[in-house]
Amino acid sequence: MIYVRCDKCRKAFKVKEVLIGKDVACPYCRQPITVPAESAEEFNLKPLLTKVLSLVGIMLALTAVKAIFWFMRQ
Ligand SMILES: [Zn+2]
Repeated sequence: MIYVRCDKCRKAFKVKEVLIGKDVACPYCRQPITVPAESAEEFNLKPLLTKVLSLVGIMLALTAVKAIFWFMRQ
């Protein structure tokens, strides 16, 4: 979802990504607004979170491999 702020009434609302570049009517005042490519209101944390989670996953996998090697040496 993309956050859009209405130029007329200054209210923010969400629209679907498929509407990027298209005109939508503000749900509050019916003002037509062109949906921007980037969300103006909120910084999207999802890509960062995905990166952090994959790094944690790699570290856990490495720890597991180390544990297996340690176990095999016994
Ligand atoms: Zn509006």
